[in-house]
Amino acid sequence: MAILNSSIIPNQLTTKLFPPSKQVHHTSKKPRPGIVHVSGYKFDVVVIGAGIIGLTIARQFLTESNLSVAIVDSHVPCSGATGAGQGYLWKVHKDPEGEKWELSMRSHNLWEKFAESLESQNIDPLRVLGWKKTGSLLVGRTTEESAMLKRKVDKLCEVGVETVLLSHDELLLEEPSLALGVDGMAAFLPDDYQIDARCAVGYIEEANRKFSAEGRYTTFYHEPVTSLLRTASGGEIEAVQTSNNIIYGRKAVVLAAGCWSGSFMQDLIKDSDTKLHLPVKPRKGHLLVFENFSSVKLNHGIMEVGYVNHQSAALGSRDPGQDALDDAEELSVSMTATMDKSGNLVLGSSRQFVGFNTQKDESIIRSIWERAVEFFPFLRKQKLEDLIKRGEVRVGLRPFLVGGRPVIGNLPELSNFYIAAGHEGEGLSLALGTAEMIVDMVLGNSVKVNPAPYSVQSHPLELQ
Ligand SMILES: Cc1cc2nc3c(=O)[nH]c(=O)nc-3n(C[C@H](O)[C@H](O)[C@H](O)COP(=O)(O)OP(=O)(O)OC[C@H]3O[C@@H](n4cnc5c(N)ncnc54)[C@H](O)[C@@H]3O)c2cc1C
Repeated sequence: MAILNSSIIPNQLTTKLFPPSKQVHHTSKKPRPGIVHVSGYKFDVVVIGAGIIGLTIARQFLTESNLSVAIVDSHVPCSGATGAGQGYLWKVHKDPEGEKWELSMRSHNLWEKFAESLESQNIDPLRVLGWKKTGSLLVGRTTEESAMLKRKVDKLCEVGVETVLLSHDELLLEEPSLALGVDGMAAFLPDDYQIDARCAVGYIEEANRKFSAEGRYTTFYHEPVTSLLRTASGGEIEAVQTSNNIIYGRKAVVLAAGCWSGSFMQDLIKDSDTKLHLPVKPRKGHLLVFENFSSVKLNHGIMEVGYVNHQSAALGSRDPGQDALDDAEELSVSMTATMDKSGNLVLGSSRQFVGFNTQKDESIIRSIWERAVEFFPFLRKQKLEDLIKRGEVRVGLRPFLVGGRPVIGNLPELSNFYIAAGHEGEGLSLALGTAEMIVDMVLGNSVKVNPAPYSVQSHPLELQ
């Protein structure tokens, strides 16, 4: 057995973590019922990372197979990017001609089915997922942006996604608090919806834990994975080594460690013939949450059209083989505004490459605020300092990959080792499609969405 060391542990985070009442710690070395303890814990599948991607992969294995699953995290659910996610699962800003469209649509359908299945069990999806079908507005203020919005509406309608172009006056009727000026316009997608990331993760984790009684689900939280253990032949990963335990994955080991996945792979290849460099980089984002915001109510989720450019900035502009982005890349801030299920006003968001730093930055908080005020003049009546006092600033590190699409698939050299990482600003929205794809691959089922754009081989920039 070869031991591949990994010292990659997320920084101490400054964001509020999972509510204490929901935290699940399992650091005991005692064997649990239903699990054979042979110098370590044995499961069919081990998932590394309990963000939205890891937890939904675990959920999919639990609901669609008989396999047992262990999920390992150096902290607790929501301590990575997921805990800072705003929660929009919108189609309005997505590109029907883009490579990710098919996966996006599949994932949206799966979220809808998830919400419907809850309703059919008399569980309110608003309560447990923060599920709200508010519709979304992609808004522009200049004639150039309005032209972009017209093209966007045409493209979405061509593929059958009902979207309407709203003039300035029509927009005012939909969203009276928005001020865009006379050239303002919006693409309106009435069927779009949002979740509350923390709430949804809490529910998914609770539902996963119902499988614990039959020995099919175990969590190892506060246990960073420190090494991957290979079989004697070297062709498979047979277990993960954590700070406290060895956890075997008989059928598969899935790496879903968000922005930490890249450094993890870096350590993996050090001692192996694998020539994969997976440059997932942290792209820091701030989000402002103003609790019980009563002065105004938003009818829809709102995003400025400039967001699309900020999200995709520099995605394809690298030379092959060049590492991801320069850490000094400029800060970008684009306005996104939602109201969550509790009536909190949530304002986003910033993007910057500053390594693994998760410190809150006052100047960025102010920039997000000032950007929002440009669109919502009523906010001028409020004092940011007062709102912050009774609110929260969330910081998260989006897992960014050059090319703008995640890796979802296995390493040819390590047939039972899978990666699901690099979802940048779309991890919540793409989670269920990603989970389905990984589980179908492991089970040998036909995959519902063309997996080629997400395979390790299709990320030529990352192959050395
Ligand atoms: C401000 C902001 C707003 C966003 N808004 C949206 C949105 O509205 N809609 C949307 O779709 N997406 C949004 N996103 C993006 C989304 O949050 C991410 O794409 C998604 O959360 C990534 O999930 P993940 O599970 O891959 O990573 P993470 O949530 O970061 O989870 C990775 C986990 O791996 C664990 N880990 C790391 N190293 C180890 C190790 N060695 N051993 C064990 N565990 C380890 C970490 O502790 C962490 O819990 C937003 C992101 C930010 C920052």
